Amino acid sequence: MTEETIRADFIDIRVYFNKKAPYLLIPLKYAKIIESKETAGLVSVDNNGRMVVNGSAWNRADFNIKRGRVFHACLHLAFGHYYRGRGFTKNAWNIAACAKVNSIIRGSLDREVNAGKIDLGKNEITMDAIAEVTKTDIGDLEQMSVEEIARLLEDVSDKVLENMTEDDLIAALDNYQEIEDGEDGGDIFSKRDAEETKRILSRMRTLGQQAGNMPAEMDRAISEVIEVKPPWTFFLKSTIDLHEHHDSSFAYINRRNDELAGDYGYRYDLFNLVDTSGSIDETTLKYEIGLVKNHARNGTVIVLAFDAKAYELMTADSPSEVASRIAKRMKGGGGTEVGPALEVIDKQMRPGDGVVILTDGDVFDLDSITTKETAMSIAKRAGFAAIGYTRTPAKLPGFQSFFLDMKLTPGGSV
Ligand SMILES: [Zn+2]
Repeated sequence: MTEETIRADFIDIRVYFNKKAPYLLIPLKYAKIIESKETAGLVSVDNNGRMVVNGSAWNRADFNIKRGRVFHACLHLAFGHYYRGRGFTKNAWNIAACAKVNSIIRGSLDREVNAGKIDLGKNEITMDAIAEVTKTDIGDLEQMSVEEIARLLEDVSDKVLENMTEDDLIAALDNYQEIEDGEDGGDIFSKRDAEETKRILSRMRTLGQQAGNMPAEMDRAISEVIEVKPPWTFFLKSTIDLHEHHDSSFAYINRRNDELAGDYGYRYDLFNLVDTSGSIDETTLKYEIGLVKNHARNGTVIVLAFDAKAYELMTADSPSEVASRIAKRMKGGGGTEVGPALEVIDKQMRPGDGVVILTDGDVFDLDSITTKETAMSIAKRAGFAAIGYTRTPAKLPGFQSFFLDMKLTPGGSV
């Protein structure tokens, strides 16, 4: 009987989605739906990309919550959350993904949620709750990908996370009843393929745009996945390479004064500022310095460690030696000011030099006027200026900002 109830309810759910959010019919069409008694929540998504309904909970549940939980699960499927969390701790990933999904649903169908027609459950995980436990600005969180949010949550104690988790992204189930097969036997989702995920999302976006009711929040979340930010290593390489290209084609800048003509093929120096409160691990650091050095074919790489003050300038002839010296200073957490280090660079640099800052992003003086002015003075003369953050998004005027994901194995899958 349970199976028939579930099938009948899914027909009603489709009718409702068809009216309010037709793009959801795409993941729902391809989803294999199964029933199991073993799951904690009403609707989960297992690691094989199947939607799992807990039959006994389903029989007791109100229709509005069924609708809400199916909506929620559809987005986990469509966005590939059930397989993208590899390498993250389970709770951190699950919470980050649920918060993202809930914020899309609220942003998309705010009125339906407020009217109780879509019930997200009493344990609904919100961005506000994450802002509180990670002590991160809500505005920053809303700009972050699930990966970035999950990194923040990995720093929060397990106890706190256990109280938050919905536990709806679960391991593949062995014991289940089949409810609906899904088109192609649920093949699209079981493949756990990033290209397939992007295809599904693009189709949802197209359908939503055609129907004329694609909410901005949904659209933004889809773009975030489809137009993926390149990995930091790629960003850094191409920035430096582009700079080198300019060097050999346009740069006739005088070393001491940019109003005078300079020598063709002039050597730029690259300043690499490293925040030692940021606990960047030695391997990543060595890799980053090596990468900067390799791509700065014509110039010297100069490394400057800083926390509340700037330390001595070190020439990175041997990236591993410099990395190990800096790694000894790494404290992880604690106060940081970038201003003093920027002043050193402002005095030392010559027009056309490159500047890369690495930080966890928790820097006290990013918004101070003096820091901004120094950053601007550097950026105006620099061949390129970039700031990479491992935790909190960090911005400086004239600097390009990038997320340095330390879980991307140096030299590995990037
Ligand atoms: Zn969830």
